[in-house]
Amino acid sequence: MELYKLTAHELHDKLVNKEISSVELTNACFARIDEVEDQVKAYVTLDREGALAQAAKVDAKIAAGEAIAPLAGVPGAIKDNISTKGLRTTCSSKMLDNFIPIFDAHVIKNLRADETIFLGKTNLDEFAMGSTTEHSFYGPSHNPWDLSRVPGGSSGGSAAAIAACEAIWTLGSDTGGSIRQPASFNGCVGIKPTYGRVSRYGCVAFASSLDQIGPITKDVTDAAIVLNTICGNDKMDSTSLDVAVPDFTKALVSDVKGLKIGLPKEYFGEGIDAKVKEQIQMAIKKYEELGAEIVEVSLPHTEYAVITYYIIAPAEASANLARFDGVRYGYRNAEAVSAPEMTTLSRTEGFGAEVRRRIMLGNYVLSTGYYDAYYKKAMQVRTLIRKDFEEAFKQCDVLLTPTSPVTAYPIDGKMDPLAIYMLDVTTIPVNMAGLPGISIPCGFADGLPVGMQIIGKPLDEETVLRAAYTFEQATEFHKAIAPLGGNK
Ligand code: GLN
Repeated sequence: MELYKLTAHELHDKLVNKEISSVELTNACFARIDEVEDQVKAYVTLDREGALAQAAKVDAKIAAGEAIAPLAGVPGAIKDNISTKGLRTTCSSKMLDNFIPIFDAHVIKNLRADETIFLGKTNLDEFAMGSTTEHSFYGPSHNPWDLSRVPGGSSGGSAAAIAACEAIWTLGSDTGGSIRQPASFNGCVGIKPTYGRVSRYGCVAFASSLDQIGPITKDVTDAAIVLNTICGNDKMDSTSLDVAVPDFTKALVSDVKGLKIGLPKEYFGEGIDAKVKEQIQMAIKKYEELGAEIVEVSLPHTEYAVITYYIIAPAEASANLARFDGVRYGYRNAEAVSAPEMTTLSRTEGFGAEVRRRIMLGNYVLSTGYYDAYYKKAMQVRTLIRKDFEEAFKQCDVLLTPTSPVTAYPIDGKMDPLAIYMLDVTTIPVNMAGLPGISIPCGFADGLPVGMQIIGKPLDEETVLRAAYTFEQATEFHKAIAPLGGNK
């Protein structure tokens, strides 16, 4: 049996019933990685020794008849901007190529407490800035549905690892779409929780008012299981919410009768690929058949979301990345003869082009004389975007949109950065308003997966999961396995 093709919940049952051992399962995952990783390049670092040692511990526990947590002994992988004690954490940057953290992120602590297995760390666009993984210092990851195409980004490695069955579950981070867009490009499930649901402690900060960690998985049930483990209040993150965490698996009820689904008209206009739109329209029909009520709503400030994001996110990034100065840790230029020269050269050589572009843009919009014109204005527009959602949610329970206006595009560097920025239009507003959003597979266009996004009210992941689960139960898209074909 190809164990690596199964979901976390299926594997948990097999472990508990002693049909398989965690060591056997972990070895099966590494064998799969050995088979396909040179085509996919989902990983930056693997931890065979650590993973197998942990698996043996879980097996001993099962043998002793002790109860185990749902993710115990089930191998996953972690986006490489999330701090793992003793395991290299690079952010796919030359700057952190040799960085071995001395502490665990809050989510990692929770996952370790549940005795899960970490196979390794997955590739991303440097410091999570990008939509393709082409900005990784280690080179791009490849989309298992067509190896000549991008897996999306910035959590492209995490999503490609799921699609290629190189991990059972993974973590990503989402600042402007980086969990949902790669999930959609790879036919996976990816959920960005409400801002503050998951502690950001130990997630290397990109834009602190937008960043949120979340799972990328094969199905909605696994997404709920991972969420159960990673959510929760943390004193180390001042924006972490002190609210009760429900058991998200209880929301997995196949029923949308009477659920009001809003379609924001701005998300269905120009710029959406016709074949993507067709799949989304079929999904909407399915929801109607299943008893949901469809209403049209408007989010009038949508057209300003991308440009305001590309002021706010770089502004925060320029402050967050100021700590990489070549002094305390990270890459240091060895030839510099003065401290200022060392900082300048270390930063110039340690950061890639996209990160440098954002730091320059961020410093510019925060500088005296430009702050009011750009940063302050962008923050005002952000409030308008949030209010748009508040108004829309007076008429519906969830919103449904395409996750991305397009499917995965070729890895050829031909797209201009601005054109790529504009494709974030469907995901960015959700971060700007701090809302939960999931992407689930809803069809194919020319053999490439199409993702549908369901957006919820603040802290209402449960309705989002219920809507996603109901669609999933009525369809087969999530069961399709990537062919690992195409031109390398
Ligand atoms: N594509 C967006 C960007 O480049 C989002 C990245 C993210 O969510 N980390 O900033």
